[in-house]
Amino acid sequence: MQIGVAGLGAMGAAVAARLLELGHQVTVWNRSADKMKPLVEAGAKAAASPAEVAQASEAVITMLTDGAAIEVVYNGPKGLLSGDVKGKLFLEMSTVPPQVELALAPKVRAKGAAMVECPVGGSTAPARQGKLLGLMGAEPADAARAKPILDQLCRRLEHCGAVGTGSAMKLAINLPLMVAWQAYGEAFAIARDVGWEPKRLLDLFVDTNGANNALKMRADMIVTMFEGRDPGPTTFSIANGVKDLRTMVETGESKGADMLATKAALAGFEDATKHGFGGGDGSQMSVYWAGRNKKG
Ligand code: NAP
Repeated sequence: MQIGVAGLGAMGAAVAARLLELGHQVTVWNRSADKMKPLVEAGAKAAASPAEVAQASEAVITMLTDGAAIEVVYNGPKGLLSGDVKGKLFLEMSTVPPQVELALAPKVRAKGAAMVECPVGGSTAPARQGKLLGLMGAEPADAARAKPILDQLCRRLEHCGAVGTGSAMKLAINLPLMVAWQAYGEAFAIARDVGWEPKRLLDLFVDTNGANNALKMRADMIVTMFEGRDPGPTTFSIANGVKDLRTMVETGESKGADMLATKAALAGFEDATKHGFGGGDGSQMSVYWAGRNKKG
């Protein structure tokens, strides 16, 4: 199938690589052109604009930072929707407020195309292996059309309801994880004066009921960071965490919920970003917080 990917950040690049490996003809575009190079070397065709991606593809996937990026990439002068896109399928897979997807869907439909939102759970490794958790929001016919593509990217694909419901569910499932990174930081701050080596500390934590899957998977990385060594590439950045936590607070409050823990985690993530850790992995929150304001 001819599939386009516009936005080759950590996630978009992993998805594009997966689609190439499965034998699809993939056309890619990214704002910073250098990120297209490894995918072109792997067999993708580079496009000069989002419009060119749409022209070359039956289906187009977008995985972009936020609503502002989606606005430019879809509705900009050489955006995805600037040409004739009648009959094409757009799969919008970013993590953004439901309102962003709800505003985009009628613009796509006005061009005679179909839109499916499908934010995902899981990071770059699951994206590369086709093991994401997909949360679709779409009209039933559009969801059926998108399913064969999304099944190749996801280990589990849920059709949550109409456009907007996938984004709401994505924010909901991600919330405990974001709050947990802050909570582990506070827990490690209590434990630090006990004086254990980081490896022993993490061994204990992963053997408790409070250990989520992410802590188990990132335990070695956290030990590495505590020991002052390079943890390797970031898969989900603290800066992205700030964006998601803000969206969670806004979305929860719009539904009448008091977002106490989410607001506290947001304050922690903002503090880390202010101190230069925005590019660090989400798990770095727990290391940063454990060492912050250390006495003695
Ligand atoms: P990323 O590595 O920071 O990539 C962001 C992408 O958006 C890049 O391609 C970037 O282009 C593009 N972009 C940002 N602003 C733009 C603009 N104004 N115009 C055009 N392009 C723009 O982020 P990511 O980790 O891949 O995440 C992408 C989305 O997936 C986010 O919504 C995130 O919340 C979600 N997500 C991420 C993960 C994860 O583990 N990383 C997991 C699930 C969901 P440049 O390269 O030019 O900056």
